[in-house]
Amino acid sequence: MSRALVLSSGCPVRPGFGLPGRGAGPWGSCRGPRERLRSAGLNPNLITRLAPIRVRAGLLKESASPMATVVMKFGGTSVANIERIQNVARHVKREVDAGNKVAVVVSAMSGVTNQLVAWVKDASPLYDAREYDAVVATGEQVTAGLLAITLQGMGLRARSWTGWQVPIKTNAAHGTARITEIPGAQIKKAIEGGEIAVVTGFQGIEPLEKRISTLGRGGSDTSAVAIAVALEADVCDIYTDVDGVYTTDPRIVPKARRLAKISYEEMLEMASLGSKVLQTRSVELAMVYKVRTRVLSSFVAPDGMKAFSPDNIEDIGTIVCDEDEIVEQQVVSGIAYAKDEAKVTLLKVDDKPGVAARIFGPLADANINVDMIVQNVGADGKHTDMTFTVQAAELTRAIDVLKKAKADIGHFDIKSSADIVKISVIGVGMRSHAGVAAQMFKVLSEKGINIHAISTSEIKVSVLIEAAYAELAVRALHSAYGLDND
Ligand code: ADP
Ligand code: ASP
Ligand code: MG
Repeated sequence: MSRALVLSSGCPVRPGFGLPGRGAGPWGSCRGPRERLRSAGLNPNLITRLAPIRVRAGLLKESASPMATVVMKFGGTSVANIERIQNVARHVKREVDAGNKVAVVVSAMSGVTNQLVAWVKDASPLYDAREYDAVVATGEQVTAGLLAITLQGMGLRARSWTGWQVPIKTNAAHGTARITEIPGAQIKKAIEGGEIAVVTGFQGIEPLEKRISTLGRGGSDTSAVAIAVALEADVCDIYTDVDGVYTTDPRIVPKARRLAKISYEEMLEMASLGSKVLQTRSVELAMVYKVRTRVLSSFVAPDGMKAFSPDNIEDIGTIVCDEDEIVEQQVVSGIAYAKDEAKVTLLKVDDKPGVAARIFGPLADANINVDMIVQNVGADGKHTDMTFTVQAAELTRAIDVLKKAKADIGHFDIKSSADIVKISVIGVGMRSHAGVAAQMFKVLSEKGINIHAISTSEIKVSVLIEAAYAELAVRALHSAYGLDND
């Protein structure tokens, strides 16, 4: 039987297509995603590339089915060897045995993508990004095939799907591609028919030139959320090597606490400020399309866990959800750190109008993202020092661009350092509580830690400090904001 799906507003839409998450369906919201990002103090342009994804979100289900549709994503350490893949297969079997329809999204086995990236760089320092993608996408294909074989060996029906087979369509930004569309009909039909779909994470296809694309490091999280949107899944479960999202990286702070829930806005800031537990784009997608995303551990005995059902979703892990679902909201929810930035200081640049434009213009033209910027007032009124940060991987290129623009910028001396870390405190409670930044500066000063740059938004404060103090700073702040688990 085929009938048009109907938005709760009454607008008929064709199955397989839909509108960005503006509906008022089960996860819908009256505010558009752009307004939500803006009111969360985030850049609304974050979603410009996501809007064209043609999927159904916030729609009423065609029929009330007792079965849930579950997307299960397993990261590199969860599929590190055959034994771990067998463990993953048992997690999948638990869901299938309970009657759930399952799509699994897998990463490459732990270490494989790093090796593939290193081989590309060894082959040529200047490489074609399309060939980089052809190489680095292979890791996921191995895991998907191995998991499908393992599931079949357990008597289950399963098949692997690569990015082009689904297809997961992306733009042409090879190496950091964005998903533009997932026509989900075929894969949906497969799982409706009781087959487990094992999908390669991290990869898609650029449909114009029909080239394999990849979504940036950690991109399997984004693949999983996008597949959940395309399948209108009831949950997107991200299985990893920790049992949820913590107040900070539990590997750095043993006293970190698992959060039962975290808002999309806070998770977005945590991810973009360095908490790699979820890729930033996966959180953007989940937020826009209202996907209930849960982070949980694959290192739990598969039969020691209950299969997913909507009424036990809160029993384990961390749910990423709307802010108003969180009853006890802390002022500060988490602390993130990012070690992948580098600091550039231009000394003695002319202190006159237009200099900043002449410095940052060429960097923008070279596609180099600048994060924090500090300009000192020069003592003599004629010169000033300008400090800013770029991604550490872009440091050499940034210095090159500035040296080439010297004739235009005028005189400067240049200093740079990659031995820095950005520490951020995050919490939606900051919107209504003053003093979070002041407390951060006090804690750091008590530990004798010097701050090189500061940036703030409505729900975060970030500081730049020397890398050697990273752990000390994170631990001290974690205690000071009352986040320690003791
Ligand atoms: P996967 O391979 O499953 O994708 P990742 O290594 O990408 O896993 O992400 C999981 C890791 O994220 C954890 O091992 C942990 O060290 C790190 N992490 C950083 N910040 C946090 C946080 N706030 N909560 C939980 N884990 C975090
Ligand atoms: N295998 C890819 C990486 O290591 C994607 C992922 O694991 O999410 O970055
Ligand atoms: Mg990851």
